[in-house]
Amino acid sequence: MSIVNELPAEQKRYFTSISDYIWDNPETAFQETKSAEALCVALEENGFTVERGIAGIPTAFSGTWGAGSPVIGFLGEFDALSGLSQVPGVAHQEPLKAGGNGHGCGHNLLGVGALAAAVSVKEYLEEAKRPGTVIYFGCPGEEGGSGKAFMAREGVFDGLDCAITWHPLDMNVVATYTTLANYQVAYHFHGRAAHAAAAPHLGRSALDALELMNTGVQYLREHMIPEARIHYAITNAGGISPGVVQPEAEVLYLIRGPKITDVQALYERVNDIAKGAALMTGTELLPPISSKACSNLVPNLTLSRCMNENMKAMPFPQIQPAWEEYAKAVSATCKGSAYPQAKNLRPAGTSVNTVNIYQERDTFVAPGSTDVGDVSWVCPTVQSNITCYAAGTPNHSWQQVAQGKSELAHEGMLYAARIMAGTAMDILNNPAILEEAKKEWQERLGGETYRCPIPAGVTPKAIRIMAE
Ligand SMILES: [Zn+2]
Ligand SMILES: [Zn+2]
Repeated sequence: MSIVNELPAEQKRYFTSISDYIWDNPETAFQETKSAEALCVALEENGFTVERGIAGIPTAFSGTWGAGSPVIGFLGEFDALSGLSQVPGVAHQEPLKAGGNGHGCGHNLLGVGALAAAVSVKEYLEEAKRPGTVIYFGCPGEEGGSGKAFMAREGVFDGLDCAITWHPLDMNVVATYTTLANYQVAYHFHGRAAHAAAAPHLGRSALDALELMNTGVQYLREHMIPEARIHYAITNAGGISPGVVQPEAEVLYLIRGPKITDVQALYERVNDIAKGAALMTGTELLPPISSKACSNLVPNLTLSRCMNENMKAMPFPQIQPAWEEYAKAVSATCKGSAYPQAKNLRPAGTSVNTVNIYQERDTFVAPGSTDVGDVSWVCPTVQSNITCYAAGTPNHSWQQVAQGKSELAHEGMLYAARIMAGTAMDILNNPAILEEAKKEWQERLGGETYRCPIPAGVTPKAIRIMAE
């Protein structure tokens, strides 16, 4: 492993101020203009060649430094969530701006931590005067947008030897698990309006079709593989007048399964249910519209072990009494961790998980999805979760937003950067690691190659912003 020293105070301030700026300007999927520009400027300030608006997405970008092999990619995210505005540094829920956005998944930290790692590796290569290319990828729209899948579809990650990233969490662990692939599809029913009392026989209710479709899918749930998940949101109920037979209705489905082929099979069955619902109600089902999709994550134990060695060699920063005090107050508002394995990761009576417990769980399917999955189909990919929050802090919560500018979050981010940089330096110094990682990756793909699950022609869409 490589020991990456803590950054000097001035550089620490430089990176944390960018993270705080992104926190102060929470922008949702594909609208992250200020956040993307702040990261592009930082890359330029550090000597990287920046390309803005890659893959046809205005807020996607890359910053490249160096030449020759290996080519190491760092993945950065920077999008926020709607409806999660929150005052920082407190232990109670209080919006900063009613209905505003907030960094409830810590992507302000994620994007800047990956940036700090890329800059460290660049400085290392520069000093050592050796070949190697570092590319930082600014990946927008992770939340509900599958930005990386769109980027992968356009070949943005082709040519990478490996990719490295991380995610802020309430514990330190190298992610060795896989995740669920998913598909998001809108079903629109078209019926005929009529006076619901005077001429109901002339009406054909699109809302009835939607309800029958949802009921049909309820029955499907018993007969699908246990890891699969199907969720929905009614995005158009037809109107607010019960006296009208609703002529239009739309429902958005999110279908998940261990592999994209499982998702595809379920999607066909959901389509059949939708067709049946249209037939039953005499309405028309418009062609389903796919809005996004992502692939399952392909774990890589070779790179995970390498990252874990770095975590072992570089212990988590010493927890200061003030961090512990704030963490304790926030922990008290949380209903326990979504990650049961996080128990015993901290000394009794404390509220911050500082211990790293490494578990090789490459057959475990985490019940969620990430568009890092698509990158992992293009090259060996490794990521860790690093403590930035009080133990028990749930994802997508006001508690995460509140802690997003805390000292613990800042230190966690800079620690993550050291772990990622150390992993990259090991890969640079020891070609056998990459060779082994590629062999493992090929074995896991089992002869399959990456096929982007998002159909050609589907373009990224900005998600609706609440109360803006
Ligand atoms: Zn998230
Ligand atoms: Zn996230």
